[in-house]
Amino acid sequence: MEKINNLAPEYIRAIHPYQPGKPISELARELGLDEVNIVKLASNENPLGTSPLALEAMINALNEIARYPDGSGFELKNMLSQQHGINPDQIILGNGSNDVLDLTARTFLKAGDYAIFSQHAFAVYPLVVQAVGANGITVPAKNYAHDLAAMLQAITPATRMVFIANPNNPTGTLSDPTELLDFIQQVPQSIIVVIDEAYVEYLPKTKKTNSFGWLEKHPNLIITRTFSKAYGLAGTRVGFGVAHSEVANLINRIRQPFNVNEIALAAAQAALKDTEFVKRAYALNCAGMQQITKGLDQLDINYIPSHGNFVSFEIEGEQQNTLMVFQNLLKQGVIVRPLGNYEMPRHLRVTIGLESENRKFLKSLEYAIGELA
Ligand SMILES: *Cc1c(COP(=O)(O)O)cnc(C)c1O
Repeated sequence: MEKINNLAPEYIRAIHPYQPGKPISELARELGLDEVNIVKLASNENPLGTSPLALEAMINALNEIARYPDGSGFELKNMLSQQHGINPDQIILGNGSNDVLDLTARTFLKAGDYAIFSQHAFAVYPLVVQAVGANGITVPAKNYAHDLAAMLQAITPATRMVFIANPNNPTGTLSDPTELLDFIQQVPQSIIVVIDEAYVEYLPKTKKTNSFGWLEKHPNLIITRTFSKAYGLAGTRVGFGVAHSEVANLINRIRQPFNVNEIALAAAQAALKDTEFVKRAYALNCAGMQQITKGLDQLDINYIPSHGNFVSFEIEGEQQNTLMVFQNLLKQGVIVRPLGNYEMPRHLRVTIGLESENRKFLKSLEYAIGELA
């Protein structure tokens, strides 16, 4: 039986699986806490919950659940194409945008190829690259942000793909639009560039880039978006990629025919109509970001200025202090995310929550810091 492990290729055996934020139910079980007293600020979920329109659409979709969903996602693609001024045949729907990232790697990478991403970038990039037996190259970050010049330097004839998270999770950093376009212009068109825009809805208008507009000149570009964050649909799993129609066509060849389920399709369509909900999510995030960063300032805690719905902060002193603060917060019923996996062992990431949740987090953090002394 021991050798059964060896049936999988070495590159699969070497994978360290993605570590999600701790679920509320798990912490409740472990500490005997009541779930209602636990605040989860660990997975960048929407503290407002879900759009009531999307909830209603999901309940209605249950009536159709005996049937297969529309595998082409006709209606959702049409809505997205109208909203963004793109063609439906440029869209790849995914079971979350993670699915699109995975499909992209499987479409364009083979064993032995090379893909580039930044240090401290989203953990899913190395995973999808390694899953096809390709090699990931991590380029050191500059002040926690993507060092685009260094990433360009890292390109070799063996490079097939580059991943850019914009804004990035867990650092919250945003690339300057001019620098990003300049980067894209310099990357050879034989290399696929993925721009992951999971947090784009949290950017103020002045910081948004028209990345879809870059596709015409740069058919090697794939832009990914998600319904998991500002749209409050993390649990239904739906996201999408936008690309040149030929690129989308290639990726869609390996997509499972029904990778986005009926409930998720219905929810996403309704959520797109509820622009009011996304506006509320944006406004709440702006206020909450101010509340939390002000609180961190008052506690004299360093943080990385963030363009997302989360912020990563640093615990000073011994490295183990960070995990002690994390554990202490758990005991107080506050779940945040340790970032050891992201080569940021002194940082913790907190998602911007409701005003009351942010307050509880700050109060618990003050107590946890005090306990260190
Ligand atoms: C949360 C997140 C996503 C979204 O993943 P889904 O599969 O759509 O839920 C994608 N990229 C980054 C950088 C994220 O933080």
